[in-house]
Amino acid sequence: MGISIALDGPSGAGKSTIAKEVARTLGYVYVDTGALYRSIGLYAYRLGKKTNDASEVVPLLSEIKLELKYIDGTQRVIMNGEDVSEAIRAPEIAMAASGVSAIPEVREFLLELQRNMAEKHNIVMDGRDIGTVILPNAQVKIFMTASAEERANRRLKEHLAKGQEISYEEILKEINERDYNDSHRAAAPLKKADDAVELDTSNLDINGAVSAVLGIIDRKLNALRPARGMAPAVNRFFYGFFRGFALFLLRIVMKVRYEGLENIPKSGSYVIAPNHHTVFDPVAVGAKINNISAYMAKEDIFDYKIAHALKIFHAFPVKRGKSDKSAIRTAIKWLDKGYNLTIFPEGTRSKDGKLGTFKSGVSFVASEANADVLPVGITRRKTRFGRTFLTVRYGKLIPYYKLKVNSLSSSELRHSRDIILNEVKGLIDE
Ligand code: C5P
Repeated sequence: MGISIALDGPSGAGKSTIAKEVARTLGYVYVDTGALYRSIGLYAYRLGKKTNDASEVVPLLSEIKLELKYIDGTQRVIMNGEDVSEAIRAPEIAMAASGVSAIPEVREFLLELQRNMAEKHNIVMDGRDIGTVILPNAQVKIFMTASAEERANRRLKEHLAKGQEISYEEILKEINERDYNDSHRAAAPLKKADDAVELDTSNLDINGAVSAVLGIIDRKLNALRPARGMAPAVNRFFYGFFRGFALFLLRIVMKVRYEGLENIPKSGSYVIAPNHHTVFDPVAVGAKINNISAYMAKEDIFDYKIAHALKIFHAFPVKRGKSDKSAIRTAIKWLDKGYNLTIFPEGTRSKDGKLGTFKSGVSFVASEANADVLPVGITRRKTRFGRTFLTVRYGKLIPYYKLKVNSLSSSELRHSRDIILNEVKGLIDE
């Protein structure tokens, strides 16, 4: 199951603008459910029907086919083959939508479509009853409000920007009317879910509201991450000595500099994703991390008898180029035991020093295990005297929910992998 974020609240509280931006930041799909009600409102309105009269609207439903499409990340609503995304934004259609939305058959008609979206993707869905009716199991529910006056001001600006003639008084009246309709209707009235976090945006600008929402999401989703401990203290104690000694030896052969040490989590287990230059990378990266790591290593290195010694460092083989379920299971097992897991996403050492392509396995593991990923950039240079000079830079921990792959489609996996790739890229000196 993927991640669903339900954003409910009255019209004009800023839901759609904020939901869109939040979805973009997280790489989730934004679903504007108001657009669905508006489409039905538009259909009835065009036929001159009374939009709040069930006996006039319900017979129309069998004639309507709605689809949601995403073009460059923007939602388009297709009604019977026509893109109605613009037409549904007219002020009179807002009232028509409010009318049809009180009809239980209309809500029932749109239920499947909304749930399907949540089944297929990680989503930020905005509406009125997402947290209460549509997605009662959403991991994060936010109820966004703002004073009616503030909302009227915002809507006025939107309409003026689009060149639509309308007065502040008219909008305020319309908002109050819609609020009343939405919260007094019998079918799925606008109401805060018991487990929703309330956010009043009256005194927040867009950026402020977006960061407030992202903050709530981060808090909620971090709390849902499986609580993982660390490797047993005795083992860590001995490994501590070993790591110190290994780093001491390494520094005899090369110069090693560390940056971003403050980004290393103090506790818990997570995935470590460094780029890969030399056989010394595991030592160089691990030396500053106080938890023990297991290592996913390409299968062929175990062809060498001596490589079996790596097993004491919890190295386990992965078949490259195909999905290796047993390796994934082993990976998750180590994480669940409180060990970190190091995966070199390039799968092999870089021959020319350039960053290679990343395999998707790292995202797959992070997503399946709900594990955060620590990106690490290693830059190798030669000093004037021919000595190797490594810079190891730890980046900011990438929360698991940004990497979550819902349907395991290859495009989602690529997207998730590219988040890690871009972070590592940013940590390397070109
Ligand atoms: O959010 P938006 O203004 O586009 O919604 C238009 C109307 O659709 C709202 O006034 C509300 O009556 C209705 N609606 C609803 N349930 C939703 C989304 C919108 O009843 N989930």
